[in-house]
Order: sequence, then structure tokens, then C-alpha cells
Amino acid sequence: MKTRFIDQNLRPNEFSDETLVVCPKCGGKAMVKSTQVPQFAELRCYSCHYVTDKPLDLNKKSYSATTDYWFDCEFWLQDSFKNEFFFAHNYKHLEYIKQYIQAGLRERNDRAFFTLVEKLPQFIKSAKNRDRLLKMIEKLEKK
Ligand SMILES: [Zn+2]
Repeated sequence: MKTRFIDQNLRPNEFSDETLVVCPKCGGKAMVKSTQVPQFAELRCYSCHYVTDKPLDLNKKSYSATTDYWFDCEFWLQDSFKNEFFFAHNYKHLEYIKQYIQAGLRERNDRAFFTLVEKLPQFIKSAKNRDRLLKMIEKLEKK
């Protein structure tokens, strides 16, 4: 029986308020949380308990695809897949991508914007990558 994935119409930035990163002090797992009111970002390390914060710089000019937007720390949940870069902001995001990859049937809903899954890169959507992607995600889930 095929499993069914129904697009929950999540926006591409749905999970970006909480991003797991590599702590700049100890290399452990840290959480970057950002809020719009007040406009503020905080990094908090689970290992060494380092804490830092800053106001959001919404006009930031340059940023990297492999680091978080506010502190430029490497994503914790990342891996390379062939020559592609894979990452998830947090475990909920990883789980959502996993459900999408696992599903044999993918359904769309009416919506007025591109959803998170529609914006996923082609290598994630490709059925031939399914088993290897799921193995990679299972490894990241234990991180
Ligand atoms: Zn740390």
C-alpha cells in the first residue's frame, strides 16, 4: 500500500524560526531562535550553555546557504547528498521532509503560494533517491 502525503501548505520559511546549529564555542548542538516581535535572535548551546543574542538585521546583504541566517553558524542537521547540499532547520522540519520522501502518493491542495515541499530541490523529489535519502535522514535524526 502506498502512503499518502498531503501537502499541509506550509510556507518555505515555516520552520526557520528555530534552527539547530553548530555552537561557535564548543562545536556542540545549539539552537538559534528568532522572533519578529521583538525583532531578536538568540543562540543557546545545549552543551556548553553559551548564550548570545542580537537584534535581527533584516537588511542583511550576504548570507550563506550552509549556515544560519542570523549568526552564520553551520547547520547542525546537514549532509551532502551526491553533489547536493541537504539541511533541515530542526527535527520537525526533518520529519516533514521525511514524510514527503516516504510517501508514494503526493497530493496538492489549493493554495496561493509555493509551499515548502514545492520549493524542495529536485534531488529530494526524485523517487530514485528515496532509499538513500531516508538512510541519510535516519542518521541525522540521531544527531
Ligand atoms: Zn557550546
